[in-house]
Amino acid sequence: MNDVLFERAKAVIPGGVNSPVRAFRAVGGTPRFVQRAQGAYFWDADGKKYIDYIGSWGPMILGHGHPAVLEAVQKAALDGFSFGAPTEREVELAEAIIAAVPSLEMVRLVSSGTEAGMSALRLARGATGRSKIIKFEGCYHGHADALLVKAGSGLATFGNPTSAGVPPEVVAQTIVLEFNNVEQLEEAFKIHGPELACLMIEPIAGNMNFVRSSVPFMKRCRELCSQYGALLVFDEVMSGFRVALGSAQSIYAQLIPGFEPDMTVLGKVIGGGMPLAAFGGKRAVMEKLAPLGPVYQAGTLSGNPVATACGLATLKEISKPGFFETLGTRTQHLVTGLTQAAHAAGLPFCGDCQGGMFGFFLMEPLPQNYATVMTTDGPKFNAFFHAMLDAGVYFAPALYEAGFVSAAHTDADIDATVQAAAAHFAKA
Ligand SMILES: *Cc1c(COP(=O)(O)O)cnc(C)c1O
Repeated sequence: MNDVLFERAKAVIPGGVNSPVRAFRAVGGTPRFVQRAQGAYFWDADGKKYIDYIGSWGPMILGHGHPAVLEAVQKAALDGFSFGAPTEREVELAEAIIAAVPSLEMVRLVSSGTEAGMSALRLARGATGRSKIIKFEGCYHGHADALLVKAGSGLATFGNPTSAGVPPEVVAQTIVLEFNNVEQLEEAFKIHGPELACLMIEPIAGNMNFVRSSVPFMKRCRELCSQYGALLVFDEVMSGFRVALGSAQSIYAQLIPGFEPDMTVLGKVIGGGMPLAAFGGKRAVMEKLAPLGPVYQAGTLSGNPVATACGLATLKEISKPGFFETLGTRTQHLVTGLTQAAHAAGLPFCGDCQGGMFGFFLMEPLPQNYATVMTTDGPKFNAFFHAMLDAGVYFAPALYEAGFVSAAHTDADIDATVQAAAAHFAKA
């Protein structure tokens, strides 16, 4: 049935999918068409059940179909889908986000992470009156033109587009650096510092598998941005409300006294699976946005009443005492179990996790940047992926993606996953 649907899909949708990584092109095979999902599981078009470690690429932190979220969404839908006029629920969600993330004084709600990142970038440029930006190789900030860039040939040069259709002139203001490379960072600020609008970073990167910013590196990012008057923009679309209630920045704040980013981009979990994202920061910067300021930004469906109901109900559940401790323990249990299973079979393996987000590598030690992540043995990963899929475990279909555990995953789910992995490792 998956094959039949995929053929039909390919006739009318490019590649048969509405977002590229779903197409299984990295791992080969036919994508599974999801029929329905509940808790930690989904069922494909053939009725086969999978333990879901993607959770819609992060949003489903409570698992699928959480009763409180479902009820909130159903209730909101009865009152209307969209008005194009303000609602109380938008205010409530903005208040809830700000209450959890101390660096935020104001947020604007939008509909996707891409839109939030693109808007944050425009605001950073508008607020500073500068054009240049720094991003890091392996960090994904959505598919806005200026952010689809890979490193150029040197620090004094600018990046190259990673997509056709992005004119070189559009990325001519984007400088791409190596993640966790303090020396390169210092060099780049020396050259471009006074012209930089912002430095945008995934503090815990989830789009090159799972790679943390080192504490010395993050500390230098903060110091250099402050010194040169550039804004430090945290893209927490993935890590926000996923690694901790206060997001990844709360973890760096524990390790670096007084640490705060200037702006934050959010998405995924704050919508609980509905199209919702946000960007925010200090009042002085946010008030540069239209209608108060000169930086234009708008959206027909922004702050959608059904999506905000879904996000609010989700945030309410994850704000309960002990939520992230339990989730973090379970995620750690998975990473430790997989590591032990691989080591028992004499295979190199390592992993890392924070809250409900994890990554694992079929190599050692833990990579610190994109180039190292990319040295992973692709065929070995693909064999692992398909063995797990056959066993009813759905990991991300590419080695450069993070994974997600939800509150609905049980110890039994984790144990079953580790057993399936052990069976594969024993034969690999
Ligand atoms: C998913 C993601 C985005 C893009 O969000 P979309 O909702 O897919 O547009 C941006 N930044 C990061 C870090 C992400 O993980």
